[in-house]
Amino acid sequence: MREFTYVRAAEVGQAVATVSADPEACYLAGGTTQLDLMKDGVLEPGRLVDITRLPLRGVRLDGDTLRVGALTTMEELAADPYVSARAPFVREALLLGASVQLRNMATIGGNLLQRTRCRYFRDPTVPDCNKRRRGTGCAAVTGAARMHAILGASEHCIASHASDLAVPLVALDAIVRVRGSAGERTIPLTDFYLLPEATPDVEHMLGQGELITAVDVPLPPEGTRSGYLKVRDRMSYEFALTSAAVTLLLDGGLIREARVALGGVGTVPWRAREAEEILRGAPAGPAAFREAAERAVRDPFTMPGTAFKVELAKRTLTRALRTVAGVAS
Ligand code: SF4
Repeated sequence: MREFTYVRAAEVGQAVATVSADPEACYLAGGTTQLDLMKDGVLEPGRLVDITRLPLRGVRLDGDTLRVGALTTMEELAADPYVSARAPFVREALLLGASVQLRNMATIGGNLLQRTRCRYFRDPTVPDCNKRRRGTGCAAVTGAARMHAILGASEHCIASHASDLAVPLVALDAIVRVRGSAGERTIPLTDFYLLPEATPDVEHMLGQGELITAVDVPLPPEGTRSGYLKVRDRMSYEFALTSAAVTLLLDGGLIREARVALGGVGTVPWRAREAEEILRGAPAGPAAFREAAERAVRDPFTMPGTAFKVELAKRTLTRALRTVAGVAS
């Protein structure tokens, strides 16, 4: 592992100034992914700025929006009573996303910025990875691809986004609050992640030194049901093959409002707006659910190893909709 200098930041402005001024510096929070990647030689920062003592921790309700401090742990957010009462699928995604040990360390800001689990990205002895070094190629396209993406993917990169939490947060139109050397700004989470296209190494909208300070989560209207379904190779310690985050507001047998996002299949947490359009105003039943699923997985980019995900993603979404609506199969 490369040697680095370590600094503990005393306040937000100091942390932002330090990392903004040094292209080799990065923030350290829970460290649950970052330290692994440093030990494996995938990340080689020259300076770590520890932000764990900054006052960016806690959850508070402001009207119908939850403001979640970036250093709030996954476990703390999962235990929040407003999350359980108004958006239980956020809690489900958190609990399915990591063991309790990891949830007690990992922060919400870090979770949203976690790196892909693509095995080639995480192995620096593999030379061809456009995400590690632009222009080197993509080993997954010709290698073993199973956990990879089928939506938003191309021959440049098929790495899937690993966060479970980001899937319901995309469905809820969460807003990322950011502080940088030029001041503060907000970014809708649906715009925050960038499709890999020809630059898979550029994953999100943050510039050097910009720090996520909080995430605003608009809570759905009272009476909205929600659910997060995660399909994986084993029941714990495993990332999603496919997942679906769904909210439904029902009016009798009709769907008044719907939110849909998919995980495990997109290079970014995948908001399925076409599926939502199908569902709005439709009777809550198998026909609308299957049509929504067909729309949600349009124009997939598949490899032999990932082609199974097309039907699996559709079935995952259909089942999640059935479960949330309380409709028998
Ligand atoms: Fe690298 Fe992306 Fe290809 Fe994986 S899928 S090897 S991260 S370029």
